[in-house]
Amino acid sequence: MAFDAIVIGTGFGGTVAAAALHKAGKTNVLVLERGTWWITPEKLGKPPAPAQPPKPTIPEFAAAQQPAETVQYWPRPDHKRGIADLLAAVRTSANKKGLYEYSIFKEAHILTASGVGGGSLLYSNVNLRPKDEVLNGIGLNLNQADYDKSRAFMEKYRGKLNKIVTKIPLPGKNVDNLGPDEDYLYLDRSRALRDASKVALPKLKQQLGVEFTVTDEWKPLELSLLEYEEDPNTHKPIGDAADAHTHCERQGRCLLGCLPAARHTLNKTLFQGHKFQGQLFGGYIRDPSSGITLTPQAKVLHIKRTGNNYEVTYEDYRNNQTQTATAPIVFLAAGVLGTTEILLRSQDKGFLNLSKTLGSHFSTNGDFGGFAVGTKNPVYTTRGPINTCDIRVKFETAGNPSPFTGTWITIEDSGIPAMLASFVKGALETLDPQAFSQQMKALWSPNVFTALRNLFPDTSSPDNFQTEAEMLSNIFFFNVMGTDDASGKFTLHNNKLDLNWPANKPIWKNPVFGKIEKVLRELTAAMGGQYASFPLWDKLGDHKLIITHPLGGCPIAPTVADGVIDEFGRVFDGSKPQGAADPFLPGLFVVDGSAIPGALACNPTLTIAAQAIKTVEKALGVAL
Ligand SMILES: Cc1cc2nc3c(=O)[nH]c(=O)nc-3n(C[C@H](O)[C@H](O)[C@H](O)COP(=O)(O)OP(=O)(O)OC[C@H]3O[C@@H](n4cnc5c(N)ncnc54)[C@H](O)[C@@H]3O)c2cc1C
Ligand code: SF4
Repeated sequence: MAFDAIVIGTGFGGTVAAAALHKAGKTNVLVLERGTWWITPEKLGKPPAPAQPPKPTIPEFAAAQQPAETVQYWPRPDHKRGIADLLAAVRTSANKKGLYEYSIFKEAHILTASGVGGGSLLYSNVNLRPKDEVLNGIGLNLNQADYDKSRAFMEKYRGKLNKIVTKIPLPGKNVDNLGPDEDYLYLDRSRALRDASKVALPKLKQQLGVEFTVTDEWKPLELSLLEYEEDPNTHKPIGDAADAHTHCERQGRCLLGCLPAARHTLNKTLFQGHKFQGQLFGGYIRDPSSGITLTPQAKVLHIKRTGNNYEVTYEDYRNNQTQTATAPIVFLAAGVLGTTEILLRSQDKGFLNLSKTLGSHFSTNGDFGGFAVGTKNPVYTTRGPINTCDIRVKFETAGNPSPFTGTWITIEDSGIPAMLASFVKGALETLDPQAFSQQMKALWSPNVFTALRNLFPDTSSPDNFQTEAEMLSNIFFFNVMGTDDASGKFTLHNNKLDLNWPANKPIWKNPVFGKIEKVLRELTAAMGGQYASFPLWDKLGDHKLIITHPLGGCPIAPTVADGVIDEFGRVFDGSKPQGAADPFLPGLFVVDGSAIPGALACNPTLTIAAQAIKTVEKALGVAL
């Protein structure tokens, strides 16, 4: 089949590309996505009045397609039985419909999503802009105007960003700075990070033999989710949450899927077509007149240049057939692993001639996790959005004049969904017994008394831990990002993606992780707890990293010698000599995280969207 344009992937880059193609008036567009629809099983007790004329829901739409499309529902039980639901949602060769793709490489494990809406289905909704120094350090030419556009895209095509650091919505209050009488209304773990930073960071400044800068000391994060709002005069509900009849209930399960449907996932952007009643979201997929066709369960294998077109070959999981589609314009948005793999395979087969740097500049984004076990005050890690607030710090070698000598680090609090509470508690207790005080051990150890206690619950004891929230009441989980040197390299082995670092530079030895642990230890001490690293880091796995923000693989650079694409996402033609007047493969663009040539030291989607918007606006001559 021939199309005007093809988009591969429906995450952040893919949704930006679909929106831009719609705006550019293209009416014969194919969007290919390897995953299926994932939505909440919950129904609103009192939903808003339906749009007029009524529009189908995702399940109604999916059932009406030929062949019918699969709709799946988030992992559900909020206690340990949910772990079975979670495992059933892992993508494997036997379960190609799975949502969670867990890719295991020698030095690092990478978690990504597979579904309509990409990473937005399982991410924790954080929008954060990297420091200018970090952008300059990796040669990413994005300025404030680019970030303003990206933020505007997040709000216009998804919904207002909200800060959620309080236990309940406090309409009209500045939650960055509640007064002392209202301080108890903060989520306990948000307040714990704030208070610990006030003690730990000045101490670190004194101790360290390097300059140590604290820039944004504790700030609530801007999250892509609905918060309850009301008119200050009438006290009636207003805004997005009022239109949707739902808002964040602090259920602490954003990574697993939001049961009240309060998150701005991109499947809504692609599908909804109306802001409940208004005209906010795209809705390209549901609206047959848009000419934008989504084919889920379609995994792209490779791309071939044929004359002025690209032939995209994909495996259609719905009928187990290999299909092709052609178009003069292709936007690659299959994420770091997906896009790099498609291009490596296309190059291997001789279908595309690309830069020799393909697969390089992979960055872990400095992703790192750690725990403060046995905090003096309760933190109730199972409650609230997964990330609520952050602090940013920078190490700088004294006397070094370069503007990028330091290492930026962002530290966020992190929730742990209730269904994982007993697993996390058990793993930490077994693997890091030193971190557990005698008192905590006594409370948690599975022994005959615990078994009896569970049979005959003791209602007179506050320490008779029964709920998931209590199990993690005193365990704080840090989510950290920093700056590594982006020296990972993807290759294809037996048609499968592999990831390695230079033998003399294993990634775990990168100094960023040592610096992060220094800060975490001090923050933990300030919380009155014991530091415990992530089990795969130094207990089970010989310093394995778990990466949730992979970046690079198709790096941006000025020339084909240094990168796969230029700053406008245009793919260099490897057959053209350096300095050629038109050095690109016409119509081929990369618009996802694989374009980002190094660590951002913060959550990346605002940057991925900014870079994608820059690319599509130049390619299609539209303003989003
Ligand atoms: C647990 C977790 C929490 C996170 N929280 C945050 C956060 O709070 N804030 C933030 O900024 N970032 C967060 N991230 C990272 C964020 O999700 C990713 O950076 C982002 O989704 C990447 O966007 P993308 O457009 O590059 O690709 P993706 O969003 O990964 O989309 C790629 C899409 O392409 C599809 N695809 C892949 N291969 C193929 C193929 N061969 N054919 C067809 N389709 C294909 C995939 O199924 C997927 O839908 C989080 C990630 C994880 C895992
Ligand atoms: S905390 Fe719970 S209710 Fe709020 S957005 Fe996350 S999953 Fe939804």
